[in-house]
Amino acid sequence: MVKVGIPRALLYYQYYPMWKTFFEELRAEVVVSPPTTQATLAVGSSRVVADTCLPVKVFCGHVLALVDKCDYMFIPALRSVKSKIYNCSKFLGLPDMTRAVIPECPPILDIDIDINKGKRKLYQYIYELGRHLSWNPLKIRRAALAAWQAHHEYKELMVNESLIPPQAIARIDGEETPSLNPDQPTIALVGHPYLLYDELINHRLTHHLEQAGYRVLAPEMLTTDQLETAITRLTGRPYWTYEEEVVGSGGHYLESGVEGVIGVVAFGCGPDSLMMDMVQRQAIRLKTTPFMNLTLEEHTAAAGMVTRLEAFLDMIQRRKRKEAELCV
Ligand code: SF4
Repeated sequence: MVKVGIPRALLYYQYYPMWKTFFEELRAEVVVSPPTTQATLAVGSSRVVADTCLPVKVFCGHVLALVDKCDYMFIPALRSVKSKIYNCSKFLGLPDMTRAVIPECPPILDIDIDINKGKRKLYQYIYELGRHLSWNPLKIRRAALAAWQAHHEYKELMVNESLIPPQAIARIDGEETPSLNPDQPTIALVGHPYLLYDELINHRLTHHLEQAGYRVLAPEMLTTDQLETAITRLTGRPYWTYEEEVVGSGGHYLESGVEGVIGVVAFGCGPDSLMMDMVQRQAIRLKTTPFMNLTLEEHTAAAGMVTRLEAFLDMIQRRKRKEAELCV
């Protein structure tokens, strides 16, 4: 059976169930790289220039972890999934960058995803991708439809059951996920999924919040309507593909009654520095919800991140006590 490697990084958290369904429908075996370790980051960093953003370094490490474990590597070039809204340039050149810095990489299955070129072009690219595994166009079409269905179910699962992507993927794989306690205080995380759910990059941020007794809310738990309404309120119209998970979710959660909002950005990320600044300004304007911005980079120490987190949670507790005293 042909093996297709999928790096557990960048777009993995958004599209894994869809990609897995597509390749498995075409009778390929999907191999995913193991969770990020310090070694993954170290080997990934050794292949790219120093000022490359942290998530891309991690991505290279995941590709290297799969090099001798698969026949093909799946690396799409995702340009645009909504009309006239474009992705960060790192995603556009991901297949070419990988070929250049990891020459030992197995043949790359790349697909150019740009909705602005029209649906016909997109179907043509999907067919070309599927042709690596099957010559039967009907089979490729069936695989694409099943993949699209899997993607919708994945997104609905996260919204309806308030699951973060790793929990939703575990649920799809038949694993147990923790049950919800609606009375638990909540903290919302805002940022790209590859920062929020990679435990090496964020030093187990979600785990620390859960240990402190908070339920974590995430951008993926919001509907498209909720995200778009918040973006319209803050910026008028979106320009970046990832504006929903930063500006949209930040704007929404700041007015949703959560205990606090934590924005997570990667050091050196151009789009993030602009988008998170808008969320921060909105937090200052509203003065209703405590907001903290965490910038992550290769050299961020876990102890430093935990200290900042503890200080933020202490501040939330002090604020609540003060509010309670004023009400007495
Ligand atoms: S959006 Fe920022 S963090 Fe993400 S790939 Fe682009 S530069 Fe890197």
